[in-house]
Amino acid sequence: MKKAAYVEQGKNSEAICHLCPHHCTVREGKSGICRVRTNHGGILYSANYGKVCSMSMDPIEKKPLYHFFPGRNILSAGSVGCNLQCLFCQNYEISQTGVDEYPHLHDYSPADILSFASRDPDNLGIAYTYNEPAVWYEFMYDIARLASQKGLKNVMVTNGYISPEPLEDIFPYMDAFGVDLKAFTDRFYKKLTHSTLDPVLDTLKRIRKAGKHLEITNLIIPGENDDDETFENMVRWIAKNLGKETVLHLSKYFPTYKLSHPSTPASTLERLAGMASKHLDYVFIGNTWTKNGQNTRCPSCGNLVIRRTGYSTSKPGLDKDGKCMKCGRQVLDRDCIS
Ligand code: SF4
Repeated sequence: MKKAAYVEQGKNSEAICHLCPHHCTVREGKSGICRVRTNHGGILYSANYGKVCSMSMDPIEKKPLYHFFPGRNILSAGSVGCNLQCLFCQNYEISQTGVDEYPHLHDYSPADILSFASRDPDNLGIAYTYNEPAVWYEFMYDIARLASQKGLKNVMVTNGYISPEPLEDIFPYMDAFGVDLKAFTDRFYKKLTHSTLDPVLDTLKRIRKAGKHLEITNLIIPGENDDDETFENMVRWIAKNLGKETVLHLSKYFPTYKLSHPSTPASTLERLAGMASKHLDYVFIGNTWTKNGQNTRCPSCGNLVIRRTGYSTSKPGLDKDGKCMKCGRQVLDRDCIS
């Protein structure tokens, strides 16, 4: 355990946590909504500091990030806890649990994680993923600071529900963000995630303003966030506020945890991908296989620049500077390719 950051002392030994927009007031002996920030004796602790539930070397495409060092592997690590309570969570066994309720946690220091990351010379860096890394903040911060000193990349795969101050504080050490934009209505966020939309939009704008690599994932749930009008409002917002080159992944939903809606039909994903492509340059279909939904084509000339088959990636039409070999258009940022 480590003393938690972004905490204000309340009355009667209460601690008020400002790490995320829930701003929980945590009474002595209790935890916040995330289950992993716990008040002992009036002091709030990060109970999952150094507690790792899963760690493996994954293709960067699995995060999913398609335009950040395509084809490279990244050490991926996560813990338990989440500040959202999505009824459709695909990782609910680790997200909706606290440290004491989960028996498979391993204790590591930031130096231990660095040592794992450095073992494979081809490893790109460290991705903070699986559960919500914002509620693992202190540990993530300590690792990311060390990793960036070693020249490793840091990637945060997040729901974006984090307060502005901790987000800005981690920017110097974080290279890329994969953010879930789960829907474009507060109704959805309140009903299905027990949070709100605006803080996520604010996070996205801050990441873009900070110049960090950003990709967005939108899980399409039939009957909840697949209506054309709201969806088009969302992609218009992305284009206007984040730029039309923002990568958007449309992800197929499967019934899980507390939601039993039928899985997303391929026709819905294709229809929404077609609509998004009118506003954005790079739209992908994920969590399912489609013939062309995972490939990157040059937005200017249509040339196939990156081919993906499962997690196998090749770059038949991309030069070493990230440009389309046919027309010279910059497709990948120069600092996102090796
Ligand atoms: S990080 Fe946890 S304790 Fe802190 S405000 Fe968010 S949900 Fe509450």
